[in-house]
Amino acid sequence: MVRILVIAATLAAGISFTSYAQTTPTASVAVKPASTQGPVFPKGNRAPATNFTGTVYVYSLVKDEPTFNCASSNVTFEPGARSNWHSHPAGQILMVTDGLGYYQEEGQPVRLLHKGEVVKAQPNVKHWHGASPKQAMTHIALNVNTEKGIVTWLNPVTDKEYNSYR
Ligand code: MN
Repeated sequence: MVRILVIAATLAAGISFTSYAQTTPTASVAVKPASTQGPVFPKGNRAPATNFTGTVYVYSLVKDEPTFNCASSNVTFEPGARSNWHSHPAGQILMVTDGLGYYQEEGQPVRLLHKGEVVKAQPNVKHWHGASPKQAMTHIALNVNTEKGIVTWLNPVTDKEYNSYR
């Protein structure tokens, strides 16, 4: 008798679950099994050598479009790699997701960037970002208010500038 009751309860639970699943609205995007390890986003493709020194990968997360006026990418700098000096007409937010990196604004010392840090580059402030010499660094770059422009590229960061971290 106890065994019959258990089977009945299991069946009832099964039927109830099936009915719930059938009435739940389906997501517009197919859900893939989530990986529990490794990077959140793909590394993407090599960034153009004209704007970077060393090996840099970029994966676009959000394409610029009028409704949102922002663009976002996942950027991975291999050890020693960095962007050229540049500025953003409307600023940029960097969210470090892995590794150890460098960030410098013109006239300021190079500072270390750790996983979990968020940096706000103010509009038109000349700066660069990249990996530290021995560790890669990955950040999400969020360019905001892109109707004002996204980036103005400048000269490469020299080895002397890059190695000035103390
Ligand atoms: Mn920047």
